[in-house]
Amino acid sequence: MRVTGAMFYYYFVCRRKLWLFAHDLRYEDTDENVVLGRLLDQSSYERETKHIMIDGTVNVDFIQDWTILHEVKKSRSIEEASIWQAKYYLYFLQERGIEIKKAILDYPKLRKRQKVALTQNDRATIQCTLEDIEKIITLRTAPDIIEQPICRKCAYFEYCYI
Ligand code: SF4
Repeated sequence: MRVTGAMFYYYFVCRRKLWLFAHDLRYEDTDENVVLGRLLDQSSYERETKHIMIDGTVNVDFIQDWTILHEVKKSRSIEEASIWQAKYYLYFLQERGIEIKKAILDYPKLRKRQKVALTQNDRATIQCTLEDIEKIITLRTAPDIIEQPICRKCAYFEYCYI
């Protein structure tokens, strides 16, 4: 199973969101938060070559001098998911012989950065997470609604609650 960066990220945000996304229920194109994120992406780090698709599966924001992987984020509201997404990218690249040791989460609007590294324990966690993602995606029906504050900003809010 091909697990994209978005799928890995959604696993830490909401298992239902992961399932909906993996089953091609997409609302992101019109969601205000997603559109804002896209605009931020287009207007930041313009000198870098952005959106590097690797092995047809993960789409990395950019890799500075092939040594530091960067992910550009709008806010720190779901930072744990962003950190794991960056760790997954490092893992994915290393599994394919591309030894990039460090990632940085960039928050241009906040003028903040967060360094991310991949440890041996992280590698084990990622392997378990990939197995769990497969189990979730192959469920016959979507996991339950989580009823959390983040739902209000989720692209699937109307689908889940209205
Ligand atoms: S609205 Fe809430 S429950 Fe529904 S997919 Fe989004 S985060 Fe999950």
